[in-house]
Amino acid sequence: MPPRRLTILGATGSIGASTLDVVARHPDRFRVTALAAHSQTERMFEHCVRFAPRYAVMVDAASAELLEQQVRAKGLETRVLSGAQALQTVATLPEIDTVMAAIVGAAGLEPTLAAARAGKRVLLANKEALVMAGPLFLDAVRDCAAELLPIDSEHNAILQCLPARAAGALERAGVRRILLTASGGPFRTAPVDQLAGVTPEQACAHPNWVMGRKISVDSATMMNKGLEVIEAHWLFGARAEQIEVVVHPQSVIHSMVEYVDGSVIAQLGNPDMRTPIAHALGYPERIESGSARLDFFSLRALAFERPNLQRFPCLALAYRALRAGGSAPVVLNAANEIAVESFLRGALPFDRIPALIEDVLERVGSHPVECLEEVLQADCVAREVARMRLAAAARAEQHPEKLV
Ligand code: NAD
Ligand code: MG
Repeated sequence: MPPRRLTILGATGSIGASTLDVVARHPDRFRVTALAAHSQTERMFEHCVRFAPRYAVMVDAASAELLEQQVRAKGLETRVLSGAQALQTVATLPEIDTVMAAIVGAAGLEPTLAAARAGKRVLLANKEALVMAGPLFLDAVRDCAAELLPIDSEHNAILQCLPARAAGALERAGVRRILLTASGGPFRTAPVDQLAGVTPEQACAHPNWVMGRKISVDSATMMNKGLEVIEAHWLFGARAEQIEVVVHPQSVIHSMVEYVDGSVIAQLGNPDMRTPIAHALGYPERIESGSARLDFFSLRALAFERPNLQRFPCLALAYRALRAGGSAPVVLNAANEIAVESFLRGALPFDRIPALIEDVLERVGSHPVECLEEVLQADCVAREVARMRLAAAARAEQHPEKLV
């Protein structure tokens, strides 16, 4: 078998690093053709030295220039490209067959969709892209003979617990429910009245996983699970009421599928993203991932709880957006990105994140979206409204006397 040729979007991030770790264990199976990231030149340069890709994209122009100098000085043959358009170039190269989509947030939508439309095997970590444009991805997979394999540990687990080709035909496969497990994040048991004072460092200190800052905050608000409910809806054709979130603080069961006969099939493993990455990279074969074996004799207990929607209103907002359909998930995602960004730079208290998202959802409403341009337009409007509401809240705080 010739090696699979890969483009890794988001190569300098947490998923990017885990992907390259798995790839390096299988030099005969995989070749890294292109790497892409935003601006972390140092890490990108290290990857270029180690994997000698044909292309390296830095979206930020100054970072691309710096990388170009380093690459030349080292005598590497890597071609350095810059700008957001270059992401689509490397996601659709004729010589590649697989794209790891691991850019964080809406910025990953266009190159990831372009990869699907070019008929590639898309390993999808960038859940925000699917939340924004689920139907467009399904069309691309169907019309362009692409493949969408989930990297999110929960969805990868569900894929492993389902019979082949059950996605989109759950009833026929005898599936009653999908049980999406959630760790509950760092504030599962924290007193609710202390959430206002939470710092970005506390929010990013996830008990079981080491991840990028945006998804870490999403895990702390449980918006991550909300986005994953919408992701499961599109990936598996499950209705909102067929997807149940189960809080499981140990993160050993990565999700479960319940069948009509009462059987529940679960996928277990240590919380290590190299496992789902290796599963999708090797699919349908199984390959070594480097993750430690699960030691049942040191597991003390596996616990389960119902999610507390008073503590985690973001989860309820995501179900609401899924049921509303149309542009509502786009608006939810955009408002969340603005809220998280503001929280991370100290401009929004942690406990105000859900209120901002709800406010934007109510103000913007939902309308049908048919094409990429309409998705991008809805994203843009929601961001604008979110920024306006943030500015209004900041003014009200400085001048409460002007409030009526
Ligand atoms: P990260 O912050 O560690 O890395 C993000 C990557 O995206 C970086 O390489 C960065 O350069 C790139 N990027 C950011 N903005 C960009 C832009 N505008 N243009 C081009 N590149 C850009 O994030 P992560 O934790 O690796 O997560 C990546 C994605 O995978 C997210 O969508 C996240 O929800 C999903 N995911 C992550 C994990 C995990 O364990 N980290 C698990 C499941 C799903
Ligand atoms: Mg997940």
